[in-house]
Amino acid sequence: MSDNHVHLGGCLCGGVRYQVDGPLRPVVACHCSQCRKTSGHFAAMTSAPRDRITILSDETLTWFDSSPEAKRGFCSRCGGNVFWIPRAEDRMSITAGTLDMPTGLTLSHHIFTEDAGDYYEV
Ligand SMILES: [Zn+2]
Ligand SMILES: [Zn+2]
Repeated sequence: MSDNHVHLGGCLCGGVRYQVDGPLRPVVACHCSQCRKTSGHFAAMTSAPRDRITILSDETLTWFDSSPEAKRGFCSRCGGNVFWIPRAEDRMSITAGTLDMPTGLTLSHHIFTEDAGDYYEV
């Protein structure tokens, strides 16, 4: 876990901004087809309990039901891939690349590597 600082982040255009109070989970890189298709490569995400995440701006935040289990939040203006919410859990994943620097985080491991694109090595 990272420190207890407040983490801020958002999409490229700023239409989606958020704040996380307290520690963030280490970053996990997901190579599943849904993360590939929505991110354009693979998704590197951190996570925190929903009650510690505040959406500061949702001006352009749009939700997409990517599977029966989860929905994804992205910016309808700049295309930034920002959130992933599993319906059955009380947490929210956040794409690590949308965090303002420094994040204080490290990449811990890769998942769904069997679904990774065929043009790179994990
Ligand atoms: Zn945006
Ligand atoms: Zn995935």
